Amino acid sequence: MSDMLARGVAFRLIAELPPEAKFLLEDFRLAVNNAIRAGLQARVTSRNALSKLAYKDFRKEHPNMYSQHLVSAFEVAGSVLKNCRRRLRKSGASRVPYVRRLMVKAENQAYKLDREHGVVDLPIRAGCHVKLELLVSDYHRRYLDDPSLTLGSLTLLPDRVIVAFRKEAPRPYLPESALSLDTNERSLDGVFLKSDEAKAVKAEFPDVAIIQRRHHDRRKGLQKKKAHDRQTSRRLCRREGQREHHRIEYRLHQVANAVLSLAESRKSAIVLEDLKGFKPRWNKELNRRLSLWPRRKLHQIIEYKAQWRGIPVVKVDPRYSSRTCPICGRTQDSRMGTEFECGCGWHLDRHINASLNLLQTAVSKGLEMAGGLRFNPGAFQHDVMMILYEPAMAARSEPNGTSCIGAVTS
Ligand SMILES: [Zn+2]
Repeated sequence: MSDMLARGVAFRLIAELPPEAKFLLEDFRLAVNNAIRAGLQARVTSRNALSKLAYKDFRKEHPNMYSQHLVSAFEVAGSVLKNCRRRLRKSGASRVPYVRRLMVKAENQAYKLDREHGVVDLPIRAGCHVKLELLVSDYHRRYLDDPSLTLGSLTLLPDRVIVAFRKEAPRPYLPESALSLDTNERSLDGVFLKSDEAKAVKAEFPDVAIIQRRHHDRRKGLQKKKAHDRQTSRRLCRREGQREHHRIEYRLHQVANAVLSLAESRKSAIVLEDLKGFKPRWNKELNRRLSLWPRRKLHQIIEYKAQWRGIPVVKVDPRYSSRTCPICGRTQDSRMGTEFECGCGWHLDRHINASLNLLQTAVSKGLEMAGGLRFNPGAFQHDVMMILYEPAMAARSEPNGTSCIGAVTS
């Protein structure tokens, strides 16, 4: 049995939201927040329990709302309550949750999408439907026109619609080569390996660390400046944080796309280190979580997109990977400089060397490859570097769902 995968694709609307849909947004939020209250009082979190508890009252209060939307409001409330309970368990403190964001979630039987013309038909109440015309770009066409994708839920927001496209996870191909990558703060460094080919590869993203540091400093400054007004300080910091996350994630998506398109075109397995339990050395300037999340996020994006495209990914324990000689197997006592050097004569860039060790671990853990795989140090081209990604490439990136300006519809 393979998993179902879902991917949310955002569409801008051609026209402003019709008033009926705006009212629905308000009503839905009200219903969600009421269900949260009811659930908190009765200590239940599941959709069914909430539904049993509150459906009748809700029908009275929202006599006109389409019943599927009401059920969906219970579902959203249930997930808010579950998150709240988790937070409570983790940190002990939790406020009564309240949903501020205007949104409507509709399951796939509660809306229709004309995939050819990009029009959503959303029922509001009996006898009242609204039609929402979506801005469709080439990026969106790839999803709309792919018959192997089925529709999942739809999320309506004041300025856009997010449609979940679903498919069964494809079976990963049998790899013919390997792309092994060591993940660092500013780059992915590694090797591309095929039976008779061995090259160093690099994907650089120095701006991620720069953005992080800059925002970190700015946040510190804000906290100091607004020390007398904690509410404002918190609000400003939150806004800073969101902007930072957006910019960094955008860049990480580009890096991941570059890695995946090489892997796909050469039928490679991607080898990454398992960052779980990984502890970077303490850094006074930045706190640990701050500097580690982009790397975890990058792995998450690569794994998720690889699964969607049927690209095999292997994650291995990175212990000793930066201190071991891949040729003779000796382990060095201390960390190296930028270059790894071994008594046997082997020497290589420290990060690339680490990626060779990751690959060896993956092979010893059962990574299979068409035709087998052996690293031949003699064939390794030290002076050839394949650049998968560098900041200069940002300008020629492909459009994504959030930037489809200039798109046309028929
Ligand atoms: Zn050695």
